[in-house]
Amino acid sequence: PRFPVTLAVPLYSSQRVTGVIVLYREGAFPFDRKDLDTVVFLAEQGGVAIENVLLHEDAQRLSLTDGLTGVWNRRYLQMQFKQTLASANRFDRPFSVLLLDLDNFKDVNDTFGHQRGDAILIEFAQRVSAALREIDTFVRYGGEEFVCLLSETDISGARTTAEKIRQTISNDPFTAVGEEPVSLTVSIGVACYPLHGNGYQSLIEAADQALYRAKEEGRDCVRVAKRPAPGLHLAT
Ligand code: GH3
Ligand code: MG
Ligand code: MG
Repeated sequence: PRFPVTLAVPLYSSQRVTGVIVLYREGAFPFDRKDLDTVVFLAEQGGVAIENVLLHEDAQRLSLTDGLTGVWNRRYLQMQFKQTLASANRFDRPFSVLLLDLDNFKDVNDTFGHQRGDAILIEFAQRVSAALREIDTFVRYGGEEFVCLLSETDISGARTTAEKIRQTISNDPFTAVGEEPVSLTVSIGVACYPLHGNGYQSLIEAADQALYRAKEEGRDCVRVAKRPAPGLHLAT
């Protein structure tokens, strides 16, 4: 604003400017030293407060993400699952779970070394993330196993997404400068709410059984869970 008298003080958090407090005054009466001291004091308090929030956010993020790949971890999946289940229940909507397991990954480590294996896991996570929607949740479930939580997605949408991921991995080998390309495939088990389970445990189990079948039936493929027998009580 066009005022003749202005006082501006930066807010610092970790030696970085994170904001500015600016005071304007109408008329020609200038701010004095005392005014400046007061605003500097407030800016220091504000800077500390902002820094605390940033640190807290960092700590939270770090405890919910996987250190190697940077994607969400299992703890976050459990939190997110609760919300997805609650909203699916409320609005009577489906959602799906994909369980991904890299094929013969032990051989990759044995042939190309553990470090190359790590680099491949990082790229794998990037490729799968890129194949998903913003609203999907992608987590490293453990070792070379990952889970996609697809909200608002029924069995046919889940199958399509799983197939897209499978192709994203098998179509292009994993490359690295000065290193031999590595061809890799992934097997995927699919389970849908409410068709194959009505809780975290039952859906993960159903997806795991489907994944087991995908492995048995030759790997590099997608298998959908079998429907539980009618009248069978589903554990949550
Ligand atoms: P399958 O097709 O049956 O899944 O065969 P696989 O070799 O992938 O299965 P298995 O579960 O026997 O082996 C998983 C391998 O994944 C073994 C382990 O060394 C590797 N692995 C797990 N976590 C990591 C990791 O963080 N980094 C690297 N480089 N390898 C990992
Ligand atoms: Mg495994
Ligand atoms: Mg595996």
